[in-house]
Amino acid sequence: MSKIENNVLIIGSGPAGYTAAIYAARANLKPHLVSGLEPGGQLTITTDVENYPGFGDVIQGPWLMEEMKKQALNVGTIFHNDIVTSVNFDNNPFISNTESGKEFISKAVIIATGAQARWLNLESENKFKGFGISACATCDGFFFKDQIVIVVGGGNSAVEEALFLTKFASKVILIHRRDSLRAEKILQDRLFKNNKIEIIWESKVKEFIGEDNPQSLKEVLLENTKNGKTSKIKISGAFIAIGHDPATSLFKGKIDMDSENYIITKNDSTETSIKGVFAAGDVKDKIYRQAVTAAGMGCMAALEAEKFIAENN
Ligand code: NAP
Repeated sequence: MSKIENNVLIIGSGPAGYTAAIYAARANLKPHLVSGLEPGGQLTITTDVENYPGFGDVIQGPWLMEEMKKQALNVGTIFHNDIVTSVNFDNNPFISNTESGKEFISKAVIIATGAQARWLNLESENKFKGFGISACATCDGFFFKDQIVIVVGGGNSAVEEALFLTKFASKVILIHRRDSLRAEKILQDRLFKNNKIEIIWESKVKEFIGEDNPQSLKEVLLENTKNGKTSKIKISGAFIAIGHDPATSLFKGKIDMDSENYIITKNDSTETSIKGVFAAGDVKDKIYRQAVTAAGMGCMAALEAEKFIAENN
């Protein structure tokens, strides 16, 4: 096992993690960043990005993350393509161990592990993931030109995805388990006005049905949540948009979290219930969930970590 004593360990490599790294490195803290399972985070499964400020033209999510990484490395971040498997926040310095056998001994830790799309957790969903089933319309919508697709969910994400998919699909069917949507009124208005979109209320997916060779999705079996009646629809694609879960299982019982497992931070701060441990981005934010807000929080976390280290060493 290799032991690495350091000032600040950043866990996660999305906009929050890289921004924290850029600020910590420029404060001469020589930060170490452990990338996690999906280096670059959620933006690497996005295509067009047109709301990240500073770019006149549309940019690509994966490209933006590569640039953030380059910037973090250029100013002195030490990057580890590795996964943190355990943390011990009982005493400072904090101990974090990784899959490859590294042990980080850190004066401060910034958690920027982000969030992941939620799935329905059906066996048939696993079978057709990547073969017709997706959690990202912006990534995969293009593949369903002139075909029929469903979107599952009733929140802002589901409605936005359904609207986006009408650019490609011949018909988009929104499947929602209740009789009213959670999405904002303005989005609902756009949805109801769009004649390519049909809504099936009070229904849930019971099973995805398709062919094995080549693996492809053909139908969905729905169940009415009120009367239990089932029905089948022919589809080519299914987009699951039922929310996200923060990637916090590693920190369970070690740090305060809310009922949905988001890390709780102090008001106007990224400081968690453990002094010297900070959280930034989607791992603590269920409201905004934007790359730019995550980046802003990453900056705050690095500034707060710098102050903490200066005051405590
Ligand atoms: P969300 O608001 O939590 O909505 C999730 C939806 O999925 C709900 O309608 C929920 O149904 C449904 N759902 C959850 N689990 C399900 C299951 N197992 N089976 C079937 N349906 C299920 O999630 P979100 O839409 O991803 O949005 C998350 C946050 O990001 C929200 O705060 C949202 O405002 C924000 N956001 C904002 C924008 C924007 O401002 N443009 C865009 C996207 C997201 P119920 O309604 O019955 O609970």
